[in-house]
Amino acid sequence: MSANAPVAGAARPMVDITGLHKLYGKNHVLRGIDLQVNAGEVTCIIGPSGSGKSTLLRCVNRLEAPDAGRVYVDGVLMGYRERDGKLYDLRPAEVARQRRPIGMVFQRFNLFQNKTAIENIIEAPMRVAGEPKDVARRRAVELLERVGLMEHCDHYPVQLSGGQQQRVAIARALAMQPKLMLFDEPTSALDPELVGEVLDVMRGLADSGMTMMVVTHEIGFAREVGDHVVFMADGQVVERGDARELLRNPRNSRTKQFLDAVL
Ligand code: ADP
Ligand code: MG
Repeated sequence: MSANAPVAGAARPMVDITGLHKLYGKNHVLRGIDLQVNAGEVTCIIGPSGSGKSTLLRCVNRLEAPDAGRVYVDGVLMGYRERDGKLYDLRPAEVARQRRPIGMVFQRFNLFQNKTAIENIIEAPMRVAGEPKDVARRRAVELLERVGLMEHCDHYPVQLSGGQQQRVAIARALAMQPKLMLFDEPTSALDPELVGEVLDVMRGLADSGMTMMVVTHEIGFAREVGDHVVFMADGQVVERGDARELLRNPRNSRTKQFLDAVL
């Protein structure tokens, strides 16, 4: 049996990060991150502004190249080919292929303003994955129903509220049938009354078994939907644990300080 053969019943890491470092010039932003996210689990990442949360997500889907360390997504080493114990950089087209099963939703919805909701959703499946239009449209309709926006399918982003735009952005990411979804403060730019509808869609996605990494300040969401919570500060994982347990009873004084300030 190979050393990597899955053990029956064992949790399988969808994301496996080891020794991850990232620098911007002299700014050492990620300082040795080790983190695993199992398939089907939701990990919420909290921490002060500037602690490297966005950079971490961007290294997971290879929007950024790490300076050291490894990121595996579903067993795939992001950005490199490994041969004879050495790492070789992959070409951009190969990296793009590795990134395809990873969906990302940003704070700003980043929809194409000149496309309707449904056009936004079918764009990548058609252009990137080469799907025929009718196949892409059929899935887009299902996704619009799932995020509760079918009646808005022909509306342009300017005609939609922030919450509706963010739900379209989630549907658009799901259209590529991702194995992993990354959310970077998906509700931070929304008016308070629109936060709930986006969190509801994310909760439904978690219930469907999607593996998710969610950077958020919504502690209630982290407690209810998160399996694990990671507290980051100064580019390091200060504390990681069971979501309810960590939020109720943080062990590290910095985690405690942070939670006291936001709760
Ligand atoms: P967080 O998401 O936790 O607020 P970030 O990952 O956005 O933190 O940023 C961490 C640090 O990295 C900050 O000091 C920020 O200024 C810096 N940083 C982030 N992105 C870049 C970039 N593209 N170029 C240079 N510095 C960056
Ligand atoms: Mg950020």
